[in-house]
Amino acid sequence: QQDTFSTAATSAVFSHSPAGKNAAVEFRQVSKSFGPHEVIRKVDLRVDSGEVVAVCGPSGSGKSTLIRLINQLESASSGEILIDSQPTQNLKGAALRQLRTHIGFVFQQFNLYAHLTAEENVSLALIKVHGWKKSVAREKARALLTRVGLGDKAQHYPEQLSGGQQQRVAIARALVTDPKIILFDEPTSALDPEMIGEVLLVMQELAKSGITMIVVTHEMSFAREIADRVIFMDGGEILEQAQPEDFFLRPQHPRAQRFLQKVL
Ligand code: ADP
Ligand code: MG
Repeated sequence: QQDTFSTAATSAVFSHSPAGKNAAVEFRQVSKSFGPHEVIRKVDLRVDSGEVVAVCGPSGSGKSTLIRLINQLESASSGEILIDSQPTQNLKGAALRQLRTHIGFVFQQFNLYAHLTAEENVSLALIKVHGWKKSVAREKARALLTRVGLGDKAQHYPEQLSGGQQQRVAIARALVTDPKIILFDEPTSALDPEMIGEVLLVMQELAKSGITMIVVTHEMSFAREIADRVIFMDGGEILEQAQPEDFFLRPQHPRAQRFLQKVL
């Protein structure tokens, strides 16, 4: 397989595709098995550039696997995944790093480096992967920390920060390479309730910025108020996709109806 994610090809694609014209993410009949266990089943999905999508569904339904497939944390067993119309199968080395530069990922458990300050966590990829000068990378990190409301916490270590603050550092880190797509896997599930709001606020600001967002969440307020579209998964399949008001007021699939009765 040829590396279609060559540097020149991707920078052209990512910087010039007009918003709303291209699919940012496209799944064609994608399946994923772990051993004999098929956890993603022939999924077709299209997410437009700039769209904000909330993914919900019961535990074990395949939500994390779905978004991990997008940045190749998992590879598909069959089917095709295109990012801005570029096939992503079997990417390795520089081409894979190039793909991940365009896709930020925010984990449930923040995954910050404990021995690095907030500023160092955010700037690390620029220095290590992209060869930026330390001083310039740190400056960009501080600007991003300011954007997520942590301008005064740049020199703090993760253990000196609350969960909500750590997650905002993780969001700043995910943005540092100017990705066109950002994926969130239950970003507020590990937080104390009083800290969920500050993280959702940052995500709401981000949603307005034109970045493509795919958010696995149990936070129905986010899905209802911020998402352009809600996707409901169960058993490795997308059972329903709808605009938030339709999904919450008139869920069609019986399993979506049952899910909503439990979470609302
Ligand atoms: P969700 O995020 O909706 O809770 P996941 O995508 O994490 O669901 O998991 C879907 C199914 O795939 C579950 O049955 C889970 O146990 C299984 N699974 C996920 N990751 C792995 C893995 N690395 N190895 C084996 N099974 C896995
Ligand atoms: Mg999950």
